[in-house]
Amino acid sequence: MTLMKSWVESANDPDGWFPLNNLPYGVFDDGKGPRTGAALGDKVLDLAALEEQGTVPAAGFRGGSLNAFMAAGPGSWERVRNALTRMLADGAEERDRVAGALHHQSDVTMLLPFVVSEFTDFYAGRHHASNVGTMFRGPENALPPNWLHMPIGYNGRASSVVISGTDVRRPWGQLKGPNDEVPRFAPSRRFDIELEMGAIVGQPSDGPLGVAEADANIFGYVLLNDWSARDIQAWEYQPLGPFQAKATATSISPWVVTKAALEPFRCNPPRREKELLPHLRDVGPMLHDIELEVTLEPEGGTEETIVRTNSRELYYSSAQQLAHHATSGCPMRVGDLIGTGTISGPERGSRGSLLELSWGGKEPLELAQGGARSFIEDGDRLTLRGFAQGDGYRIGFGDCTGKVLPALEDPYS
Ligand code: CA
Repeated sequence: MTLMKSWVESANDPDGWFPLNNLPYGVFDDGKGPRTGAALGDKVLDLAALEEQGTVPAAGFRGGSLNAFMAAGPGSWERVRNALTRMLADGAEERDRVAGALHHQSDVTMLLPFVVSEFTDFYAGRHHASNVGTMFRGPENALPPNWLHMPIGYNGRASSVVISGTDVRRPWGQLKGPNDEVPRFAPSRRFDIELEMGAIVGQPSDGPLGVAEADANIFGYVLLNDWSARDIQAWEYQPLGPFQAKATATSISPWVVTKAALEPFRCNPPRREKELLPHLRDVGPMLHDIELEVTLEPEGGTEETIVRTNSRELYYSSAQQLAHHATSGCPMRVGDLIGTGTISGPERGSRGSLLELSWGGKEPLELAQGGARSFIEDGDRLTLRGFAQGDGYRIGFGDCTGKVLPALEDPYS
């Protein structure tokens, strides 16, 4: 596939994130109330206005979240995408009617794009799991025996999911004392990022799902930063897994990139080290070739890239994660957010967390602008970016960014 030309000139930039091939959905507010929009070049197209005109099929674009549109189902997703693609293409006769519904992205505020009904986070990156396992339990026990047989996950908190741009305050928590002394209650000193993708469930289910069915139920994807307090995590995680270490905030990018836009970028999973059980077996290319990066901008400093990796480094696809999630009969809802877990590649510069980049603080990451980081410092801004590279166009996700504020003086005063 090549670039689909649009009469919106800024959408035809080969390095832009939002060509006509993309058309991601988000929720924006220009002062007149939240409604659904689609990104195109440097513009946002007001879908609620087009719905009112009868220019696009009605799909609940005035509700302030994508949930109604997602619930309307794959037939509706396809009809709306086809209608938008036609009316925004170069030479479209609807141009004059549609042009009035375009706003500059710089004039609007982006809001959380959907009501997050539940949030589950997986641990589906092979390199991340073996790096963290090596640091926490030693190289012999790096991968738990279940890891190569199913995607490991935990139930997170929908309430902690925030839109890109939201500041994140360094948490307090219970930390292990040195030499097994009594624990302390203090601000986390090992606060970290996790570079992840999030899949959004667009169709409900109530019972087991095959991998292909699970893939069909996914509406789209966002970038996701699962902020993590490593010192809280190391003390609390056994035997029931992470809890307060992951409850401060999880940031997501504002635009939901549809599964349809990512179709040309599907790729095969890595070689299976152990054969998967039949219900989780691969049934086609369900990973995506999406280039990912993380930048760090110290307070008063400049932004520099600290991680470069690719989402094809995942071992389990989002479809496999969703299929596994439903095996017990767990009902899945429209607006369920399924985090992949940290995506790390094999080299140091492709590790998706500071924990891995600094190897638990033992090898601090040297910054090009001077200084070093083992973990996040107050005032640091961390930004995730990602895009799939097509032939003369890119499918971009937009920024997933957040700045870390100092811990409160005393949270109980
Ligand atoms: Ca995570």
